[in-house]
Amino acid sequence: MQGGATETQITVSENTTQTHINEPIERWIELHFSWAGKSFRLDIADSDRVFDLKAALRDLTKVPAERQKILGLVKGKLPPDQSRIADLRLVPGKKFTLIGTPEGDEIKDPSQLEFLPDVVNDLDVDFTEDLEASNAYMSDQRNIRKVKEATEKLKVNIIYPLRPGKKLLVLDIDYTILDTKPLTSGSLPPAECARPRLHEFLEAIYPYYDICIWSQTSWIWLETKLVELGMIGSNRNYQISFVLDKTCMFTVFTERDGKPWTHSVKALKIIWNHFPQYDASNTIHVDDLSRNFALNPKEGLKIHAFKNAHTAEAMADRELDKLTRYMLHIANVTDFKSLSHKNWKQTLRSLQLP
Ligand SMILES: [Mg+2]
Repeated sequence: MQGGATETQITVSENTTQTHINEPIERWIELHFSWAGKSFRLDIADSDRVFDLKAALRDLTKVPAERQKILGLVKGKLPPDQSRIADLRLVPGKKFTLIGTPEGDEIKDPSQLEFLPDVVNDLDVDFTEDLEASNAYMSDQRNIRKVKEATEKLKVNIIYPLRPGKKLLVLDIDYTILDTKPLTSGSLPPAECARPRLHEFLEAIYPYYDICIWSQTSWIWLETKLVELGMIGSNRNYQISFVLDKTCMFTVFTERDGKPWTHSVKALKIIWNHFPQYDASNTIHVDDLSRNFALNPKEGLKIHAFKNAHTAEAMADRELDKLTRYMLHIANVTDFKSLSHKNWKQTLRSLQLP
């Protein structure tokens, strides 16, 4: 993610000098981890416990132990606190990802601008309908430069390795897979804010698509949402490969009904520049706001916004089942450029898929 690579070092145990001749020499392991878009270094002794590792992470990030999700350090679940670091058999230089909200950064007031959920679907323009407007965006010199700048600024933290030969799903969060409002206000538990069939959808498409989450929120809030929804750090049959936040978006300027109009975009070219194995032929971007597709109208699939979670109507929402059927239907298409996702529901109907 963005932000400079801050290399910070901490010594976990104080027993670093061999003052007694008979004392065995301790083995220290150098570890690297990323958290909130920054890189850290951490040295830990073989004799330390998992508890000490968590304490060291807390010292570096202020994320309390109980909120830490440690990904990629060991296979499967991290052993309990009392386990010895030596028993984890870590390779020196091992990299992992830490996820968690630091103390003091909890979402207390959802009206705080920083934590405002994704912009609501009020002033949307369907760019898949207006390729001319979209071409104007794409050929705008400033926008081309912005893509370049955003590419250079972006440091992607790979949470789970990308698999060769898979297509890429770029997936929005707010109102696409989640009713953000009750989650932000805390009026509903996270699992009840999720769009029905979320995990089933991701598990079904995962054999064919790697998953990138891109949300117009800040990093901390984004990670919290993914952990609370059980999309990261839980044992599901899918993995999130990487996550992009609002810092990878930029503002574009245009006119709407004769008046100046500005909005943010998610330019897929930023991802493609980082991962040249992806391009318009194998990427699909699912979002409830089609203005986010302004620079990539052909790759965009607009999904009906998911709101009013917990009402009977919302609980009966099966948009993700439909999306599953559509994405499986196109999974073996060699070149997505030959498709038009705009009429995805019509495509399903014509195939007599419900
Ligand atoms: Mg959204």
